[in-house]
Amino acid sequence: MKRVFSGIKPTGHLTLGNYLGAMRRWSAVDQHEADALFCVVDLHALTVDHDPGRVRRLSRQAATLLLATGLDPQLCTVFVQSHVDEHARLSYLLECVATDGEMRRMIQYKEKAAAERARGGSVRLSLLTYPVLMAADILAYGTDEVPVGDDQTQHVELTRDVAVRFNQRYGRTFVVPRTTHPEVAARVMNLQDPTSKMGKSDDVGPGVVYLLDEPEAVRKKIMRAVTDSGSEVVHDREARPGVSNLLEILAACEGGNPNDLAGVYETYGSLKKDTAEAVVELLRPVQQRHKELCADPAYVEGVLREGAEKAREMARPRVDAAYRAIGL
Ligand code: ADP
Repeated sequence: MKRVFSGIKPTGHLTLGNYLGAMRRWSAVDQHEADALFCVVDLHALTVDHDPGRVRRLSRQAATLLLATGLDPQLCTVFVQSHVDEHARLSYLLECVATDGEMRRMIQYKEKAAAERARGGSVRLSLLTYPVLMAADILAYGTDEVPVGDDQTQHVELTRDVAVRFNQRYGRTFVVPRTTHPEVAARVMNLQDPTSKMGKSDDVGPGVVYLLDEPEAVRKKIMRAVTDSGSEVVHDREARPGVSNLLEILAACEGGNPNDLAGVYETYGSLKKDTAEAVVELLRPVQQRHKELCADPAYVEGVLREGAEKAREMARPRVDAAYRAIGL
């Protein structure tokens, strides 16, 4: 059975982008078809200015939401990254294989470092090296497939390069993984600025739909989404990013094709109304299950404890082998 690994960063409340771009597939497909691990990657949340209590709360919330989307601990492993030391252990070895040039070429690093400097802040070293930690997350488990949104492609490419280089230098130790993306909505855009990605760290903004938003808030955000000049409903990401984003969200919710849907709508208003209702219906069962899980914190605690034990057992032999191979 193939091994699947993916993660989610507790840097903010989870968004519709996280769900459509990655999480939905984890529960609908991956946990049934693979030996799958899903991780709240809390070490990654420390790469930017953070509040310790908030990171802890958001980690718990993210883990609870993963279970609320339908991940079943009988079928897959759900855990928190910092509970398994192997990630940090392996990350250091991979830092000895990756180069600083590779790190500086990462688009997310360039964007986030520039934003940090623009705010007058300093850039943490971990922001630069975080793709290596991500490579360790993936490689520690002998991962074959990494189901992620579009924005993570470059990081998974780096993971592949590092795995190949390590294997060539020190003997075959790691499986070289590949990425999978959803066919539709691999990059959900911000509703107020459809040229940039809907990101969870964008603070509480009207352009971001959060998984725990009340139905009225979801409707309001989608009805107020920025659309493009013109009035014809067409799917063209370059020329009509706002309308195309709505078409993709609707198609992802209903399992259709954005090009076909474009022909169905004559006005932006009716497209927005149907998209809003589709998202409300998509989120309803997740929110209901989240509420139930919040009432049973001991259950979530138990799942994460057992998940970490299982993950540790899976990761340790390969990380130990990497230490031996590299000369330690
Ligand atoms: P972020 O902080 O940007 O949400 P994460 O690393 O926590 O980043 O993202 C978790 C998963 O959600 C990743 O697979 C990522 O590709 C996916 N994802 C994040 N934002 C979007 C988006 N706007 N559209 C599609 N997928 C997304």
